[in-house]
Amino acid sequence: MSALLQALRASLGDAGLLVGDDLGAYENDWRKRYRGRALAVARPACTEEVAHVVRLCHAHGVPIVPQGGNTGLVGGSTPDDSGQQLVLSLSRMKRMRDIDVANASLTAEAGCVLAEVQAAAAGAGLLFPLSLAAEGSCTLGGNLASNAGGTQVLRYGNARELCLGLEVVTATGEVWHGLSGLRKDNTGYDLRDLFIGSEGTLGIITAATMKLYPQPRERLTALAACASLDAAVALLALARQRAGDALTGFEVMNHASLALVARELPQLAQPLGPAAWTVLLELSDAESAEHARGVFEALLEAAVEHGFVDDAAIAQNLQQAKAFWHLRESIPLAQAQAGLNIKHDISLPVSAIPAFVAEMDARLAAYLPGIEVIDFGHLGDGNLHYNVQAPRDVAPGEFLAAHEAAINELVYDAVVRRGGSISAEHGIGRLKRDELAARKDPVALQLMRQIKKALDPQGLMNPGRLL
Ligand code: FAD
Ligand code: ZN
Repeated sequence: MSALLQALRASLGDAGLLVGDDLGAYENDWRKRYRGRALAVARPACTEEVAHVVRLCHAHGVPIVPQGGNTGLVGGSTPDDSGQQLVLSLSRMKRMRDIDVANASLTAEAGCVLAEVQAAAAGAGLLFPLSLAAEGSCTLGGNLASNAGGTQVLRYGNARELCLGLEVVTATGEVWHGLSGLRKDNTGYDLRDLFIGSEGTLGIITAATMKLYPQPRERLTALAACASLDAAVALLALARQRAGDALTGFEVMNHASLALVARELPQLAQPLGPAAWTVLLELSDAESAEHARGVFEALLEAAVEHGFVDDAAIAQNLQQAKAFWHLRESIPLAQAQAGLNIKHDISLPVSAIPAFVAEMDARLAAYLPGIEVIDFGHLGDGNLHYNVQAPRDVAPGEFLAAHEAAINELVYDAVVRRGGSISAEHGIGRLKRDELAARKDPVALQLMRQIKKALDPQGLMNPGRLL
């Protein structure tokens, strides 16, 4: 055992250091796209132990790959195949440190699973609104390191907007005590925002103070069938006008997405018949169940009158609402089951989305007949998961090898031309690093490299990711 591993074992104990051949869960990513080999997995139990691990790695020149729930989709949380990178898992840092009801804030350690944070807030009668399909396994630290979005961004913002303060172990092993419940603090550069979205390349988030909100009295979910994406965009504008802040979710699923779910997960009921686009709307109401239902029914009636919606169903109870959401959240699972695909997590001004999709769908069909576009996501935020799947008679692996570069170029050129982003919420990781280097504003890239150098002079924090 190397001197570093011996020192780690001595300070972390047996539970805190995993070595050997059985590390697959930490070495392979959720999509099974990246398979790596770790030097070892360190599992510190508190901030001081994290700092100690980082100082030891710093002294030995060993790169660190921070890992939370390992649900990231861009290859950022798993080691490369050199066997030289240490995985630093936050999975034992699960303390809920404080809930301040009057300040509407909560402080939790980075390894707390998102669903646990939601439950802790609910236990105090409040809402922690960050929500995504991986919430049963992703962690607060991972959510912040990747600035996760999810299904409630429309109303509450992404992880960045929900964060008030951070505790961070720097790349040189110092602890920055930046936990704060303050809504106002103009005392210089915003270090918090620097670490949020930095994907483990600047330091290790060990705890965070997050905003909480009042629990809505009522939450209602509906599905609506639209004949076109233009109609869905018109429905969004109408819903905003009618419901204002009460509109908390607006998701879309194209025909191919739900057809894929029907094929891969036939046990899931699909309440509406096949439609070009199915919209999932969620209203959260502070007044009463009757009020919420009244607003929703009037909205959907008006949408039918305007010709935006052809058919709709409002969930009659919590169980049905969960089933509607489950349908939407099953699309990535159905895709994973169907095999590798080419993922694009893009954002555009909502107004530009219908024309973008029409252009891309046509160009991809011309490029390779039989190609399937699994297009779904958070239309309310201008964020689509525009994923491209192999024709059914082509093996996914072969499809990726032969066409990924060309298809990425087609899609990203059109996104950038229309003023969009090549990564709306999943981040850059390894998957889009070269794409970022080629497409990001050169001055912005230069500033990012200078920040990286200043905060991580040895380049040991998640090297090869993002930059
Ligand atoms: P990991 O995957 O472990 O890590 C993600 C990145 O953060 C890596 O670069 C890692 O090195 C770094 N990191 C992790 N913890 C820390 C830390 N404590 N300090 C510093 N760096 C750290 N994402 C969305 O934004 N919206 C969605 O709707 C969404 N839906 C998803 C649905 C499914 C089914 C799946 C599998 C993923 C989805 N994701 C989504 C992506 C992913 O779940 C989120 O990005 C999540 O926030 C990652 O959290 P994690 O704890 O799993 O992080
Ligand atoms: Zn998403």
